[in-house]
Amino acid sequence: MNEEQLRQLIRKIIAEESGNSNVIPIGVSNHHVHVTEEDFNILFPGQKMTSKAPLKQPGEFASEQVVTVVGPRGTIERVRILGPCRAHSQVELARSEGRKIGVNVPIRMSGDLAGTPTVILRTKDGEVEVQGTIAAKRHIHMSNKDAARLGVKKGDAVKVAIESDQRRTIYDDVIVRPDEKFVLEMHIDTDEANAANVGKDTVAYLVKED
Ligand SMILES: [Zn+2]
Repeated sequence: MNEEQLRQLIRKIIAEESGNSNVIPIGVSNHHVHVTEEDFNILFPGQKMTSKAPLKQPGEFASEQVVTVVGPRGTIERVRILGPCRAHSQVELARSEGRKIGVNVPIRMSGDLAGTPTVILRTKDGEVEVQGTIAAKRHIHMSNKDAARLGVKKGDAVKVAIESDQRRTIYDDVIVRPDEKFVLEMHIDTDEANAANVGKDTVAYLVKED
């Protein structure tokens, strides 16, 4: 354990011992897609979506099924479908990945898809056009209880300090998303995680402003 890691650990223990923890676990979202049942059936005819691993948010899972995302200037292979099926298909890429395949990906909250670019999802059995390509705006899932404890409410834009090795970073404009079924977790994408040198044990804190 190096000095930076030791410092992180001590801060985490102090925060937890004080019972007044502002610790926010970080979940790094790799590129992924959500699909409707209709689109799934075109891409995987006769198959059922199967879970490879549960995600931290209850009921959500990484499926066994992967697709190729096709843009005007390139493709991204093996992009995983996250389940269960949704009412609208949606493709979530990092901005740097969008650039590689010729798509200028807007930063949006999940589900806010008006006017977002279209890409093609392809498997060996079929392909669908999906209008709904976004880079997810960074956000924190939390229960209503967490929101009350942290003194924040739905839709608030907060600051989160990421205590990483060599690249401590404060991310502003992190949107609060409370829901009864959510578990406390900040979601950032791979560009954001790399920019802040987020590792497996990196801890983040909500920055309290008076
Ligand atoms: Zn999320």
